[in-house]
Amino acid sequence: MENLTNISVVREIMERHGFSFSKALGQNFIVNPSVCPKIAEMGNARKGFGVIEIGTGVGVLTHELAKRADRVTAVEIDQRLLPILSETLAEHDNIHIINADVMKTDLKKVIAEDFDGLEAAVCANLPYYITSPIIMYLLEERLPVRSITVMVQKEAGVRLCAEPGTRECGAVSLAVSYYAEPKLLFNVSRGSFMPSPNVDSCVIRLDIREEPAVSVRDEVFLFKVIRGAFSQRRKTFANSVTTAGISKERAVMALEQAGIQPNIRPEQLTLEQFGMIADILLQT
Ligand code: SAM
Repeated sequence: MENLTNISVVREIMERHGFSFSKALGQNFIVNPSVCPKIAEMGNARKGFGVIEIGTGVGVLTHELAKRADRVTAVEIDQRLLPILSETLAEHDNIHIINADVMKTDLKKVIAEDFDGLEAAVCANLPYYITSPIIMYLLEERLPVRSITVMVQKEAGVRLCAEPGTRECGAVSLAVSYYAEPKLLFNVSRGSFMPSPNVDSCVIRLDIREEPAVSVRDEVFLFKVIRGAFSQRRKTFANSVTTAGISKERAVMALEQAGIQPNIRPEQLTLEQFGMIADILLQT
């Protein structure tokens, strides 16, 4: 259906199906007509591609993806939306809806089964209650995708795209930089949604790297160090990394060996420096 950004049309469909928004599932649907075509176009929804969507709502983005890509597989947790989607997406024969929690879905298997011979990409207007866990899941799974293009809360977008070594940087920014090159694409005002959330949003694209940005001995240990370092924001690296089971003395020694001052804060460290510290800690 073309007019899924028309508020009266969406309300009529919802009422007819007895559907009401679930706040707990982060259901804020896009009603600004310019947003979904832009996400689809900037998110690699095109010939030769299969697109994974997370959270369909009434299918407003799904429709734009299906118009452009060869195949779309969408994972939607809310079973009440299925009869609505059968109606709103009826004109497309290239969409597969999976009624499941994305965090419990084997997306690698889905891509292998649904996108035979196609390149893959992820596009979504993410439910805000679970943004970071979903992004971490997509990255850590090392999905064979070209890009992950997602709408997130503006603040989350700034954090996700923050350069390591800058004030906004956190554990999730380092994970993003490790696996991908992040880009903030455009902002979306709160009035573009129904119901309207309390915050503005932005669309970011993570272009997945062929190889991680740094090479380390043990990736799991690197992220243990990063998570520990950022667990207590205002403390120095050597103090906060103790939460990862690394003593302050060992941490200071590793910093010294890496040629880094002992009172450095985690947000001042680059990904390369985290990699160096993690490798030194593994050997001592
Ligand atoms: N794509 C639609 C749009 O842009 O209007 C809906 C976006 S809405 C912000 C998020 C969607 O994700 C909702 O449809 C919600 O039911 C779904 N959702 C929430 N948690 C989910 C989960 N764990 N797995 C899959 N879908 C989920």
